[in-house]
Amino acid sequence: MAYYIGVDIGGMSIKAGIVDESGRILVKDSIVPRVEEGQSAITEDMYHLCEKVCAKANMKLDDVTGIGFGSPGTVDTAKGVITFAANLGFYRYNLIKEFGRLWYCKLAVGNDANCAALGETRFGSGQNKKNTLFVTLGTGVGTGFIVDGKILTGHKGAGSEGGHICIRMGGERCSCGEKGCWEAYASATALIRQTQQAIEKNPESMLKTIALRDGEVTGKTAFEAAKLGDPVAEKVVDTYARYVATGIVLLTNVFRPEIVMIGGGVSNAGSALIDRVTRIVNRHCFGSRKVNDVPEIVQASLGNDAGIIGAASLVMD
Ligand SMILES: [Zn+2]
Repeated sequence: MAYYIGVDIGGMSIKAGIVDESGRILVKDSIVPRVEEGQSAITEDMYHLCEKVCAKANMKLDDVTGIGFGSPGTVDTAKGVITFAANLGFYRYNLIKEFGRLWYCKLAVGNDANCAALGETRFGSGQNKKNTLFVTLGTGVGTGFIVDGKILTGHKGAGSEGGHICIRMGGERCSCGEKGCWEAYASATALIRQTQQAIEKNPESMLKTIALRDGEVTGKTAFEAAKLGDPVAEKVVDTYARYVATGIVLLTNVFRPEIVMIGGGVSNAGSALIDRVTRIVNRHCFGSRKVNDVPEIVQASLGNDAGIIGAASLVMD
């Protein structure tokens, strides 16, 4: 059995785990990176974290066949360079070269959403499928395409940024500076904004009761109230599902995945989201009325572990 380390890099925490070739995590741990001390300090932190998970699994560094890293931002996988990751201060940083000075083995780095897409396709909800789309609905909207079994990275690794396809010209302002991006309508952040607007217009709705109970509006508020039969909440959830589905239809018409795997915090709504999105996608995908080849829409199954497992998958071939 070969063992790998998957490192899931985030601005708030870096997670790492020992992953075996069947995609199972043996042990995992996390650290808060020293972001303010710069790129080298973060790299050292990751090295120590890798040492720590090895010790936890009673393994030596030599027992690890390879280490894969999943980073936010733009990553040039071919060169091993994190081109730009704002939250961590990485700018044109050759992670593979620098990490290789501390620990030499098979190393690779990829964009985090792409890694999650690979992990989900190999070991999660997309197993045995060659063409898949992974969508994460969190603070933003991330996408990862697996085309013929491989990550679609595009020129200099800048793909894919499916969250920034325009679904409404001149629409809501997006975090990227553009207007009308899918992310501005389908992220958890957008859902919270849509829920807040519904509360302001309908202060008598159950949405307000739940928000007051929780002390805030979250990505769960509308789904919970809709489940209890609140008509205002049902409208919020229906509209939100339509936004999610609109992006999926656009991307499906271009790439035609066999399956669309939805992850991220909002995906925890489960069938309340998946069933609604499925209905709309079935209706609007190209050719859907004549041929029955619309992609299956499912909730991603690896949850928060997709990042670690996917990063480890980078070095499994
Ligand atoms: Zn955008």
